[in-house]
Amino acid sequence: MTFRELGLSEKVLQAVEASGYTTPTPIQAQAIPEVLAGRDVLGIAQTGTGKTAAFTLPMLSRLEQGRARARMPRTLILEPTRELAAQVEESFGRYGINHKLNVALLIGGVSFGDQETKIMRGADVLIATPGRLLDFAERGKLLLTGIEILVIDEADRMLDMGFIPDIERICKLVPFTRQTLFFSATMPTEIVRLTEAFLHNPVRIEVAPAASTSATIAQVLVASPSGPAKRETLRHLIRSVDNFKNAIIFCNRKRDVAILHKSLQKHGFRAGALHGDMDQRSRMASLDAFKNGEVDLIVCSDVAARGLDIPDVSHVFNFDVPVHAEDYVHRIGRTGRAGKLGTAISIVTRADQKHLAEIEKLIGRVVEWQQGATLDTLTQDDEEEASPRQRGGRRTSGERTRAPREHSAREPREQSKRTREAPHDAPKSNGPAAAKAHDPRPQEARSQEPRQHEPRQHAPRAPEQKVPDHRERSHQRPDRARSRDNGHDDQPVVGMGDHVPSFLLRPVKLKPSVVEEAEEA
Ligand code: AMP
Repeated sequence: MTFRELGLSEKVLQAVEASGYTTPTPIQAQAIPEVLAGRDVLGIAQTGTGKTAAFTLPMLSRLEQGRARARMPRTLILEPTRELAAQVEESFGRYGINHKLNVALLIGGVSFGDQETKIMRGADVLIATPGRLLDFAERGKLLLTGIEILVIDEADRMLDMGFIPDIERICKLVPFTRQTLFFSATMPTEIVRLTEAFLHNPVRIEVAPAASTSATIAQVLVASPSGPAKRETLRHLIRSVDNFKNAIIFCNRKRDVAILHKSLQKHGFRAGALHGDMDQRSRMASLDAFKNGEVDLIVCSDVAARGLDIPDVSHVFNFDVPVHAEDYVHRIGRTGRAGKLGTAISIVTRADQKHLAEIEKLIGRVVEWQQGATLDTLTQDDEEEASPRQRGGRRTSGERTRAPREHSAREPREQSKRTREAPHDAPKSNGPAAAKAHDPRPQEARSQEPRQHEPRQHAPRAPEQKVPDHRERSHQRPDRARSRDNGHDDQPVVGMGDHVPSFLLRPVKLKPSVVEEAEEA
């Protein structure tokens, strides 16, 4: 099947070719001819399946006939979040490169003035979040009576965010005769009711069961103590996983996004954050920094990250196991996109067992533990050693004062660039050590790393393995050499020397079976 066979216009086909796409994805192959024929479509598809192009491409072909009038957009696309709306706008820019169409974006957090000018000029495509759209419509700045095509995207997310009453109001403002394209990853009862009310005899296209996880994603669980030790587990994973390029890290709570973000920065990682309490400008800046590689880590909440299309994400870390099993599917779907391989690693504590069971039930499979090390193999010692504060260990004022933020985000970025440009610094081996060539931390921080793969019991070391030890370090930085990272984020960032808890000593290479499964797909 080729794009040409789908009936798209020449201008669109040229843009598709310029994007480098050769074969339509299943949702594109099925939806595009129906949209071109003017039929209503109910698409049950997750992000990552190519659904944006499934509606954007035929819309562009259809829009070649006719012109927009002032204040009366011709097509309307509703998105649950500002980022998704901006992403769809980008798609129109890319696929509509040969068209002279006016595309307007109507999202919260941006000044009304510019948006109003664009609408006054006449928009062929209006992409909006429901709240801001209703604001405009109710102030009489916008007439929805000229809408020919209405797209409701990520409907189940709209439901989660409480937008359904807004959607119902908007549907009543657009002409009854419009064509409706409706997309949702899942079909809860409220969504079914909405489709029954607002779609006319739709073609139903379902490309993947909502509960499935992509076969291009290798999934693994890592058992960890909770508390500050969990952050150490994450840092260790980021440093040691294979084929690290960049990662999205999920937390369950906005508050924890901010805490983890700060902590990673303090430890010298190049990390950004994305959560609902950030203003629009900061959110866009964070996302752009991640997309263009200025940071390799982005810590997110579910709402902020849902549906975002960030190509080439090598890893997803669930710092917290999600409470809603469906979020797991959405989170890990940020990697392994468009046929690429990705890895999703979930850090699991004792408290997460119930949620983990729900996830495994939803996805219909058991996720493997890293090296078979389940929660049961975490020793009491691990949990205590990794988390002294929980045992009642308290930070002294002396500790606090000798805690310069040596690896904070203030470290010049050049330093981490140098790290990337000097892979010969990294041990020449496969596996976790080799992954350090991609280590996002400054060189200095890397050299302080715990000796992850050495047994705790002072096993003899090969002579050529020159790992700086405590004594060597103490000549250079007496203060830091004395310290241990006890999980307190304002402590100096140092390795744990001989006190690495055993749960961190386990190699983090994925089981061959996990990788093979992904590669076979
Ligand atoms: P979406 O599901 O719309 O978020 O798209 C997921 C990713 O797939 C985006 O990065 C698209 O650029 C990419 N994509 C969409 N259609 C195709 C295609 N036919 N071939 C290859 N990549 C595609």
